[in-house]
Amino acid sequence: MSDPLVSRMRRFGTTIFAEMSALAVRTGSINLGQGFPDTDGPASMLDRAVEAIRSGVNQYPPGPGLPQLRQAVSEHRRLHYGLDYDPDGEVLVTVGATEAIAATVLALCEQGDEVIAFEPYYDSYAASIALAGARLAAVTLRPKEGRFTFDPDELRAAVTPRTRAILVNSPHNPTGTVFTREELAVIAEVCQERDLIAITDEVYEHLTFDGVAHVPLATLPGMRERTVMISSAGKTFSVTGWKTGWVCAPPELTRAAQTVKQFLTFTVGGPWQLAVAHGLREELGWVAELRAALQSKRDRLMSGLSGAGFEVLKPSGTYFVQTDIRPLGFTDGLELTRRLPELAGVVAIPTQVFYDHPERGRHFVRFAFCKKDEVIDEAVTRLKRLG
Ligand SMILES: *Cc1c(COP(=O)(O)O)cnc(C)c1O
Repeated sequence: MSDPLVSRMRRFGTTIFAEMSALAVRTGSINLGQGFPDTDGPASMLDRAVEAIRSGVNQYPPGPGLPQLRQAVSEHRRLHYGLDYDPDGEVLVTVGATEAIAATVLALCEQGDEVIAFEPYYDSYAASIALAGARLAAVTLRPKEGRFTFDPDELRAAVTPRTRAILVNSPHNPTGTVFTREELAVIAEVCQERDLIAITDEVYEHLTFDGVAHVPLATLPGMRERTVMISSAGKTFSVTGWKTGWVCAPPELTRAAQTVKQFLTFTVGGPWQLAVAHGLREELGWVAELRAALQSKRDRLMSGLSGAGFEVLKPSGTYFVQTDIRPLGFTDGLELTRRLPELAGVVAIPTQVFYDHPERGRHFVRFAFCKKDEVIDEAVTRLKRLG
């Protein structure tokens, strides 16, 4: 039989994460590829989920999400960012940020529309845009003074009459860049001048370092009314398997996303929703400790990677550090990461797979530091064999 998969999805075969995680298992390597923590979230939050299951919260919750979580999300946005979202009509609970992004793109893009995203980009963006029959237009982030950023003229030039939206991920995976207010102002200006919607992926909103603050694009003048603000519990509370996320947006944008979301999954598991509502209200102290611990893990991995001969770019947020492999005598990150288990017993991710222009990311490799200190130390010891 010829490939039964629809043509618009054929280029999304197996993800690099599946390939590299399988390689890690097969070779007994340390996996610094996929970004998930190897420790649990706050105990009281885990208890709340168990309690919810035991007390009968086991049938379909309402489509937009349980009121307790919508209320907690709304309070959190107001407390942290001074943004007001009505829990009834401006907050939608989704199956992780992934579904929020997919539902939003499917809801807003006609066939042939274009969505701008900054490359290297999170891999689900391209797939969601392709499912919608839309086209991704990539604007490249390049290292400048030690961090990845974009050229405002390249962003302006990427807008066409078919452009519908800009997808903005800050703190940014996989580069670790946290967009500054100035960078966000450029994006805001382009959105307003060209009447575009901003879709923001803010799943690392709490995981920033060195006192760098995350600024939501929706807090910039004129942006709340044209921004679909997306986040989730996975990264904030180290529960990536819970897949509980949310959209905050004006009523008509929220309604559009919900119209699609209701036929993708209808709703999200009730116990997770109650537990995450509890986390947002009671466990942000735990999150502050997580942030401090991640910053020290970042420093630990960065100094180890430098010692092993990589050029390291310092991230201001997320779980990831980018390295330039050329000082070690390598030029192709895909080739290196496929050989890394045999050379050093470590698995990492070649950054080039997140580009529409892979040549622009060929010499970068991404390492995750959301792992126990002893795991990072052992990986560094092994990587020193490369030199
Ligand atoms: C992990 C991640 C997601 C997915 O979030 P879920 O809530 O697990 O769906 C989305 N965007 C980025 C940038 C991520 O790193």
